[in-house]
Amino acid sequence: MKHAIISDIHGNLEALESVLSEIARRKVDSVLCLGDVVGYGPNPNECVALIMEKAEVILAGNHDYAPLGKIDLSYFNPWARSAIEWTRAELNESSIEFLLDLPLKIEIDGFTIVHSTPFRPADWNYIITIGDAVKNFPEFRSRVCFIGHSHVPMIVSLSEEEDCRVVKENPLKIKTGVRYIINVGSVGQPRDLNPLASFGIYDVRKNEYELCRVEYDVAKTQQKIKETSLPDFLAERLELGQ
Ligand code: ZN
Repeated sequence: MKHAIISDIHGNLEALESVLSEIARRKVDSVLCLGDVVGYGPNPNECVALIMEKAEVILAGNHDYAPLGKIDLSYFNPWARSAIEWTRAELNESSIEFLLDLPLKIEIDGFTIVHSTPFRPADWNYIITIGDAVKNFPEFRSRVCFIGHSHVPMIVSLSEEEDCRVVKENPLKIKTGVRYIINVGSVGQPRDLNPLASFGIYDVRKNEYELCRVEYDVAKTQQKIKETSLPDFLAERLELGQ
């Protein structure tokens, strides 16, 4: 099976459409979404509807739970908070109903997917450092775990000798006896100083993972954000990739 793994769409319809058309070109068997479909961007309902149609599995992110009152808003920074309040007012009935029941972490086709961390996913912690990864490897049983949440693509490997390191290889050959935590980056708000929309393709049969980046109409999304009462900073950061 060949899976496209997408995360952190954040209501950015232009980025999502661009990613989905690249995914269609790549002929995958399924699309798996790691959450944060809404929050920050101007098209939450349109993104929910499109994800419902295209994704096989959809997990919850903190920004999907927050507008529903499932997370205390004091967890979030001021920009995120005002975006959550805006999103809450914007969401329609069918989006709310859909977001309410999303799971946090699952195993599928021999690998694990979760928005934040395998260890206590509802705490919404991040895997940024090697230390974070070391703590999380014992918390899933499969060889590979895919995550999102930080909006920064990253691969960390753990060898049988317990050697934990960041891997830069792309495409990545999944090696026998090695385990991996792989962050697929963000579709709708990349933060690795690269504004291109980010997602991953995992070919289970070939044991191969590829990080993919695609262009989208950033100016159009920025214009839409500026026409709402969302903070302007949320438009500016898209072209900077931060
Ligand atoms: Zn996010």
